Formats: sequence, structure tokens, C-alpha cells
Amino acid sequence: MAIKTTQTICPFCGTGCGLGVRTENDKVIGVEPIKNHPVSKGRLCSKGWSSAFGIGHEDRITHPMIRENGELRRASWDEALDKIHSEFSYYREKNGPQSVGMISCARATNEDNYAIQKFARTALLTNNVDHCARI
Ligand code: SF4
Repeated sequence: MAIKTTQTICPFCGTGCGLGVRTENDKVIGVEPIKNHPVSKGRLCSKGWSSAFGIGHEDRITHPMIRENGELRRASWDEALDKIHSEFSYYREKNGPQSVGMISCARATNEDNYAIQKFARTALLTNNVDHCARI
């Protein structure tokens, strides 16, 4: 089967470099820069070049996990969301809204990050919002 290249945007930061995702038999086998892309002009940084590494990796987490007694176990989305709700409620009631916060992701979309800060400020009543680029 032929190798196919699908043009997209690198998901690792807000620069938005043009990324060609190379697939063979519907499996990602690598990436390449898009030569005439208006932002990256045929270049990628080391993060962009390694962006295919985690796709399909056997250790990739594809479902919620809950830690109990030091061990992670698989959970349903309903169970995970119920636990998040109960834990946030407990600490917010016990210590006030400034005791909780949200950490977003530099690799998320602007819309996702907007929704996260909105949720923190309107639902959790906290201004504690940050993302992984500052860690
Ligand atoms: S290739 Fe590097 S600079 Fe470009 S979007 Fe990806 S992480 Fe950002």
C-alpha cells in the first residue's frame, strides 16, 4: 500500500507550523514539513519532528484513570467526572475557591483554553488558571 501524506497543523504549540502526517495502512509512520506553508516555510522544530511519536504508542492513555491506594485503574467517563466533581466540591467547600484551580495545555486549541478559564471562573469561582507552558 502506498504511503499517504495528510496536511495539517502541528499540535505542539501556538505557532501553527504546517505538518504533513505520513501514513501507511492507516498507521502513522512519521511526519514531514510542508514546504510552501505560510508560517513554517518547510521547517519544523524538534517537537514538530517528533510529534508522531506518541500516536498509537502502547502506553498512550485512551480512557480515564483513577488512582486508588497508589495504583492507577481504568474508570468510565461517568465515574471519573463524578469523582472530579466530588473532589473539587469537597476542597472548595473546605478551603474556599482559591484552593482549587485548572491547568490547561499549550497544545489545546484556543477555544478549549477559553472554555477551561471560563469554567474555572464561573463554575469553580477561582482565578487559578494556568497551562503547561509555564511549568
Ligand atoms: S513545529 Fe515546533 S514551532 Fe512549529 S508548531 Fe510545532 S512545536 Fe511549534
